[in-house]
Amino acid sequence: MTPHAFNIYSNNNQRSLAIRAVLIDKLQYRALQVNQDPRPDADLNICIGGDGSFLRAVHSSGFSQVPFVGINTGHLGFYQEILVSEIDSFIDQFIHGEYINTELGLLSGRIAHGDSSQELFALNEFVVRTQNSTIAHMEVYVDDYHLENFAGDGLIVSTPSGSTAYNFSVGGSVLYQTMKGFQMVPIAPINSRAYRSLLNPLVMPNTTKLRLVPTPREGDNILVIADGINLDFKEIEYIEFTFGKKHINRIVFNPMWYWINIKDKFL
Ligand code: NAP
Repeated sequence: MTPHAFNIYSNNNQRSLAIRAVLIDKLQYRALQVNQDPRPDADLNICIGGDGSFLRAVHSSGFSQVPFVGINTGHLGFYQEILVSEIDSFIDQFIHGEYINTELGLLSGRIAHGDSSQELFALNEFVVRTQNSTIAHMEVYVDDYHLENFAGDGLIVSTPSGSTAYNFSVGGSVLYQTMKGFQMVPIAPINSRAYRSLLNPLVMPNTTKLRLVPTPREGDNILVIADGINLDFKEIEYIEFTFGKKHINRIVFNPMWYWINIKDKFL
């Protein structure tokens, strides 16, 4: 059956809003439906902007299972494959099913605080650091095994698709977007006689349960950030990360897109 209904997300810059208007015209010209507000029974979520806009669309959709695609209004973007000049061919290819569906795994972060716990999800990463510029102290457990006693600015726990974001800036490994695993990378770890922790990124399989336990005096001082959004929790007892319980779908037209971005952005 021909796909017919589209959700459109865009950032509020003038160029993105202008492209949004052009896109709506082109879809409606082909008798395709553009939903006024995003609907869960749509055929495609189209995000206009940069990678940050893609992240915001994924969050505001509640990690929708409707496939996502990005139209880029800035420089190249890891999530944003379609160039503005390619909008017509993108619509035609989508209608004719000429694309690959990929699954991007999400990180789950279960935050235990006070007497309760809450599970949140991230597409790029969770950052765990102190609220101010003091040193963060955390015990790190892998599958309940005590691995290290961390001291430093903080820890980033990143998905493969988030490996090219904050993770990359602090020396994390670049992982292919659809890999089934995740990594932890330290931000300015202290290594001295008193403290010893891994300086390298630690890449783990998707079966791993990673738990960060702030030292008791720090439960109130710890800040958790999911995809750039500060989460407001007090008395954090621990944060437990797992990968791949949920995913989003992203359609891809050029299988080399990831490598083109790596070269364009980093080399
Ligand atoms: P922002 O500060 O406005 O932009 C962050 C930058 O990260 C933008 O250039 C964005 O690309 C890029 N980016 C986002 N996801 C990416 C990915 N998967 N691969 C490569 N680059 C990516 O913040 P924002 O737009 O709200 O985005 C939140 C993200 O910022 C966080 O998830 C975190 O990864 C990143 N961040 C990075 C650093 C750092 O590198 N030192 C520090 C804090 C946060 P576009 O320009 O295409 O939007």
